[in-house]
Amino acid sequence: MFYNSTRNSKVKVTSAEAITQGISVDGGLFVPETIPELSLDEIKAVGDMKYADRAAYIFAKYLTDFTEAEIHHCTDNAYSTKNFETESIAELAHLFDGTYMLELWHGPTCAFKDMALQILPYFLTTSAKKINLDKKIVILVATSGDTGKAALEGFKDVEGTSILVFYPEDGVSPMQKRQMKTQEGSNVGVCAIKGNFDDCQNGVKAIFTNEEVKQQLADNGIVFSSANSINWGRLVPQVVYYVSAYAELVKDGEIALGDKINIVVPTGNFGNILAAYYAKHMGVPVNKLICASNVNNVLTDFINTGVYDRNRKFYATVSPSMDILISSNLERLLYLLTGRDDAVIREWFGKLASEGKYEVSADVKAKLQEEFCGGFCDDEQTKATIHAIYEKYGYTCDTHTAVAVKVYNDYREATGDTTKTVIASTASPYKFSAAVLEALEGKASDIDEYAKVDRIAELSKLDIPAALADLKNKPERFSDVIDKADQKDYVLKALGL
Ligand SMILES: *Cc1c(COP(=O)(O)O)cnc(C)c1O
Repeated sequence: MFYNSTRNSKVKVTSAEAITQGISVDGGLFVPETIPELSLDEIKAVGDMKYADRAAYIFAKYLTDFTEAEIHHCTDNAYSTKNFETESIAELAHLFDGTYMLELWHGPTCAFKDMALQILPYFLTTSAKKINLDKKIVILVATSGDTGKAALEGFKDVEGTSILVFYPEDGVSPMQKRQMKTQEGSNVGVCAIKGNFDDCQNGVKAIFTNEEVKQQLADNGIVFSSANSINWGRLVPQVVYYVSAYAELVKDGEIALGDKINIVVPTGNFGNILAAYYAKHMGVPVNKLICASNVNNVLTDFINTGVYDRNRKFYATVSPSMDILISSNLERLLYLLTGRDDAVIREWFGKLASEGKYEVSADVKAKLQEEFCGGFCDDEQTKATIHAIYEKYGYTCDTHTAVAVKVYNDYREATGDTTKTVIASTASPYKFSAAVLEALEGKASDIDEYAKVDRIAELSKLDIPAALADLKNKPERFSDVIDKADQKDYVLKALGL
């Protein structure tokens, strides 16, 4: 299996090269040249394996340059109860009529990003070894809150690497900020940007593709790589849990092998839902992929109209990890929907960069609407949804998951579609304790962050994750705040260049 760039189909690299580079030199994203197939019998067989082996089975189809032993080295280290609070790794909660919560937040930082970022460092160090890259790998991350912490935990003290994370100063929850500012490890750095997530991400992308910077790095034996979902090594682990969830439903007798399901994903950068798309095209029977957004509803509009327009007001919401106006992974989807037409991708994404807007062809729009549905909700609806499902089912979910539940309820009402549905639950409710507690109690409270956590524990009966409970006693190590224009200089200085 080789990988092409979305902006140049002639680029052809192995998975080890794609993972170490992160992004292609032309600014495009790496995609596998074909989508490997998974038969229904294989899916059924996957259900009888433990999670690490399910992952290894899927990875073997994508990372064909890795040996079996190399893949198992990665999966066995990442997906164990050493790192995750549940044996199942990705817990499937059967709660609603025909609706299942795929809880992806039982890892060390309490958000679904751990599913990929616990394994990415193993992929990356294994890949570097395979291609004889004897350089120091520097991971640059732009985060809307959860990726940063998950990447820091994944890469802390990993030999031959260092990591630098940028987050929007006013764009993350207090718990997320504390998680990052108190990060331990000798190879880590964290810095706030005066701007929003898109500013952080644009800054990182610009540094990656800056020729002058690249030369300076080369002269000093350093390479950059990415832990954002632009890196294929972030995407492929996410395909696993959709296959796994389907296999689990079959095993539990909730569906028959071959029955279709819907998948609902609270979406920001379009990574998680793109993974569901890959799972579908590998062979998981899927009816609709439902893309849920908060009021930063650029994707809802795009799915409905075929026009992607980021020229709009940016809102800070109670689901901050979805406060994004440029969804990077959409580029991968459009590359596939256009039949791998790199010229048209260059045109559209060129327009996005220069005008903030592009329109896809009628044909691509039709294909998009055949597979995807989009919807959004505001903060009040998000909180009302948390309250309603707590009252009805005694289940407490976080703000991002609540957006997905609300959009799904709207979809079900509008279409009458009663297909069994898996909702990606992307974070622990404790991570967004202020909004979650306000939703549960029906009013805002001015007790401190940790008292809120204790109160949620009383109401939800969910154990407080040890990693969040410990934060209270940790010293803050990182407090830099910079202008977005200074991001490049900050990176060079941090690297001692
Ligand atoms: C990152 C994140 C999302 C959005 O996922 P994408 O892959 O960026 O679409 C949703 N919810 C939570 C809790 C997240 O951390």
